[in-house]
Amino acid sequence: MIIVLKPEASADVAQELLDRIAEKGLKPLHMPGAERVVLGALGDERVLAELALESHPMVESLKPILAPYKLVSREMHPHDTVVRLGRTAIGGRGFTVIAGPCAVETESQMRNTIAATKAAGADAIRAGAYKPRTSPYAFQGHGIEGLKILRATGDEFGLPVVTEVMETADVEVVAEYADALQIGARNMQNYALLRSVGRSGKPVVLKRGMAAKVEDLLLAAEYLLAEGNEQVVLCERGIRTFETATRNTLDLNAIPYIKQKTHLPVLVDPSHGTGIRDLVAPMALAAAACGADGILVEVHEDPAVAWSDGAQSLYPHQFAQLMANLAPICAAVGRQLAA
Ligand code: PEP
Ligand code: MN
Repeated sequence: MIIVLKPEASADVAQELLDRIAEKGLKPLHMPGAERVVLGALGDERVLAELALESHPMVESLKPILAPYKLVSREMHPHDTVVRLGRTAIGGRGFTVIAGPCAVETESQMRNTIAATKAAGADAIRAGAYKPRTSPYAFQGHGIEGLKILRATGDEFGLPVVTEVMETADVEVVAEYADALQIGARNMQNYALLRSVGRSGKPVVLKRGMAAKVEDLLLAAEYLLAEGNEQVVLCERGIRTFETATRNTLDLNAIPYIKQKTHLPVLVDPSHGTGIRDLVAPMALAAAACGADGILVEVHEDPAVAWSDGAQSLYPHQFAQLMANLAPICAAVGRQLAA
């Protein structure tokens, strides 16, 4: 429930109401605005009814939040959230490009790849040290050694790093090395992991599960916010459909829908979304055109020898061309690519 107080309501009145909400076992929220104070109460609304807030002299109006997700909803938080990522930010007027290989393979693979993505204007690095692979026999990532290479590459090039954490037990160590924690498609509904990453307070990139509805994604994000972490970026990475021509079906409908329903920024991953190198750049441009806050894209110094996802990884020259092609599209939709 959203509780709008009258402009003349004092801070003491707001506090008294917050205390009464908490006494009922509901989660109180305090959202002071320029003109009015708005309060929130999360939990069973039948219990809230016992407080008879509609007849309180300092309450202007009550508005139920109809969506099942609350903290992530735009009703609760009308302004766009901007998520910090090292020295850059995701959301607002910028269009953020996070680029790098699927996995950390070697020091030189990281250095050569990121030298190229940085020269082309990327804002941040992606690369996995812990890889969720469909086959148990496929390369699983270098773990902590991979994190160290990733951090060293980020420091060398002055770029923030985003990397996946797959297990609750690894949250602490990944948080030590990374600027943002990625929760992968396969873990989107791993609620213990969501809670733990929420408690870490680190910026999060939460990817949509391959069989998840947008509502499921938003409820997964709600777990992170419910733990007090508002630094959450959503990521559309394609879903499984009956179509087999592409690895996944990139659901760009989800982007303007998510922008309407939530205040959280949203990225598009055209690499996993298509699985086919030649489709990555067109879908990245489409992502910018439909209002995404950025892209998460796979680039490899030599995709032909990549240890994972080579078929969907861009060559460095293709990435540079993509950055050049993104500029006019970003400008047309009122966004800025970083220099
Ligand atoms: C990734 O981005 O490295 C990845 C494994 O993606 P997803 O979780 O979307 O499959
Ligand atoms: Mn990959």
